[in-house]
Amino acid sequence: MLTVLESLKLSTTFLENKGIESARMNAELLLSHILNCKRLDLYLRFDQPLKPNETNIYREFITRRGNFEPFQYIVGEVEFYGLKFFVDKNVLIPRQETEILIETILENISKTDELKILDIGSGSGNIPISLAVNLPLSKVISIDISAEAISVAEKNRELHDLKSRIGFIKTDILTNNLDKYLNTFDVIVSNPPYVNKQEFATLQKEIVDYEPEIAVTDNCDGYKFYKAISEKSRNLLKENGMLFFEIGHGQSEKIKNIMSENGFEKITIIKDYSGIDRVVFGVKR
Ligand code: GLN
Repeated sequence: MLTVLESLKLSTTFLENKGIESARMNAELLLSHILNCKRLDLYLRFDQPLKPNETNIYREFITRRGNFEPFQYIVGEVEFYGLKFFVDKNVLIPRQETEILIETILENISKTDELKILDIGSGSGNIPISLAVNLPLSKVISIDISAEAISVAEKNRELHDLKSRIGFIKTDILTNNLDKYLNTFDVIVSNPPYVNKQEFATLQKEIVDYEPEIAVTDNCDGYKFYKAISEKSRNLLKENGMLFFEIGHGQSEKIKNIMSENGFEKITIIKDYSGIDRVVFGVKR
């Protein structure tokens, strides 16, 4: 029977040989997930022998990580904006940068109004759920083209007990004008697929091999969704309604133009922790 320390050493070497960055950290985090303890608590348990079933699960997890499967898909969950979300290969793994999008919305709207919000691209449901939790009077509609993503988002909605305030709809924003919702929303938000076709191939193996391609790239110039959403949002927003986007590196100028061509004003850009323009928002004229 292997001890905690022996298992960590073997797995670290295995992951290093596969070319996984921060191999020891990955080995520790996966084992602490299985043992249901904090990573640093492993250090108090170095001599503890692993039970056969723990070793088996650990071996499976390490093999998967060695094949570059993202950590979050292996453990099946992630924390976003202080909340827990289930994730699997059908949804984009929520990113830290996207927390800035949530923060920006919460800082720029009136929390005491009964806001109607539309989220485009549900994924795991991280955006609608974080907003609904922090805006107890709001109602959110969130759309996604993927039925599989919506089932993950529904599971997360259940986890956070928000069925009465969040509705998910399976539809394609590129072909659906959502005519039923003219002049309906106070806020429209999206973190759309924004990586362009050429750049997609250059991304990390973890993303290219495992994350849903349709959630990451528009398979075009990177602006397809910004154009479509800006255009359609005009009709869906109420007067003075606001449109919020997460954007990719180097996209802010062009997206600002797209929004302004579609009648948005007071366009504001917010940077992320690395100083990169990450969120753009504007008000419907
Ligand atoms: N809204 C989800 C997120 O921000 C999914 C976005 C997407 O799939 N492009 O993580």
